[in-house]
Amino acid sequence: MSEFYEPKHLRPEEKEPPRRAPLSLRRKRRRLLVRLVLASCALLVVIGIGMAVASVLSGLPQVQNLPLGGPQDLDEIDIPDWIDQEFLDFGGSRSGEKLEHVNDIAIHYVGNPGTSAMGNRSYFNDPATEVNAHFLVGLDGEIIQCLPLDEKSAATNERNRDTISIEVCHPDETGQFTDDSYRSLVKLCAWLCRELGLDENHLIRHYDVTGKACPLYFVEHPDAWESFRADVGEALRNLP
Ligand SMILES: [Zn+2]
Repeated sequence: MSEFYEPKHLRPEEKEPPRRAPLSLRRKRRRLLVRLVLASCALLVVIGIGMAVASVLSGLPQVQNLPLGGPQDLDEIDIPDWIDQEFLDFGGSRSGEKLEHVNDIAIHYVGNPGTSAMGNRSYFNDPATEVNAHFLVGLDGEIIQCLPLDEKSAATNERNRDTISIEVCHPDETGQFTDDSYRSLVKLCAWLCRELGLDENHLIRHYDVTGKACPLYFVEHPDAWESFRADVGEALRNLP
């Protein structure tokens, strides 16, 4: 009964929802274009913020964060004064062939107990000698550089093409280094790692390339080799 008395004018109006006029093709295109432009602007803003953050981060000290495989201007690295540069003469073992990129640092022992760094340098410089290394570390911790960093050495067989080589003197047949030699070797390797954008995981033994027992002590004592690498890592992170 009540439905008869319900006043019709109080009911909510039942209007049909307004129909949207179909967009013309032109308006559709314009709307698409506007969306594309807005999306491009948003993308540019995101890229800009990313670049700003990257530039701030690159201003921070990056002792251990240098990119691997990044640029290595081998001929522009400043050699510190604790390294004695005594380059070999051309001919003999020094080919002058360019070293393009350094992936690893190869450690050797001279295999001739009790000989000095300078004595081994003279041996490298003999025209009849076919081997050499970038660096020699002596019994008292002295460091001689025999070759520029951007030249290949003749020490590590097929890895001469992408390694810096270091020969270390030793007092006896065990091949164990003196404390002075060890300290200098750690210092040299840490410095090289930093300059070359490497870390302690890029230290290798001659043994790792050819299986030769070189450097003897680190081949016979793998634990000493691992702690040497750890020492270089620590020195690298503590560089000023
Ligand atoms: Zn070797």
